[in-house]
Amino acid sequence: MDYFIDSHCHMHDEEFFAPHERDILIQRAYDCNVKKMILIGTDDKDSFEARDFAMSRDGKHERLFWSYGIHPNEWQKEREEPDFKIDMPVAIGEVGLDYHFLDEVDDPEEDKKEQKKLFVEMIELAEKYDLPLIFHVREAFDDFFEIIDQHPTVRGVVHSFTDSKKTLKKVLERGFYVGVNGLATYSTLPLPPLDKILLETDAPFLAPIPHRGEQNESSYIPDIAKWLAEKLNVSVDEVMQKTTENCFDLFKFQSR
Ligand SMILES: [Zn+2]
Repeated sequence: MDYFIDSHCHMHDEEFFAPHERDILIQRAYDCNVKKMILIGTDDKDSFEARDFAMSRDGKHERLFWSYGIHPNEWQKEREEPDFKIDMPVAIGEVGLDYHFLDEVDDPEEDKKEQKKLFVEMIELAEKYDLPLIFHVREAFDDFFEIIDQHPTVRGVVHSFTDSKKTLKKVLERGFYVGVNGLATYSTLPLPPLDKILLETDAPFLAPIPHRGEQNESSYIPDIAKWLAEKLNVSVDEVMQKTTENCFDLFKFQSR
């Protein structure tokens, strides 16, 4: 496959992008050979906004896809069982555990408990609809593995992986893909093998070198691929083909 996929971005989000800007940036990504994008939901409302945005621009889902998820730090928000009758997401995410801000909350134990409860609900949702999961895990891998090992058949990607080599090994042992984004281009994070990598921007966050510090956008995917190709000593073409294939394997775009 001769194009790139941005497997994780927030390009629909009006909190970060002006309404007219979004269409310009999506076109620009397309012109840079990033021909599919997954718009990632972070809470109930945001997820359905991602859906509506994707459907209004691309009703047939050839270019734009969306995921339904409630981010672990959004557990306080009200939620009910989502209704996918209008349209099915390609994944449940981003969901998981994030203990980074625990020392800033009133009751850290309660926070952990609620995050875990939400995470299990989201895994069960993925199981119910037979969808892959997009995991967001930060400083919480012990609890992540404990929960995930009770659901051995789930498949997914650990997005924006920022942990140790040892943790990466455990992630790969469970058959998960790993999302590599701009963060990798200016850090010394351990890298998985190419057949386990999905490219992502996480736009508007984490712009890769040479755009570090700027607002990120999906058209920067080729910059990450170029960096990765040098790092892995393979061609950019190979990075493109393999990571796109990996995306198809996980998200099954063709069967929608
Ligand atoms: Zn994200």
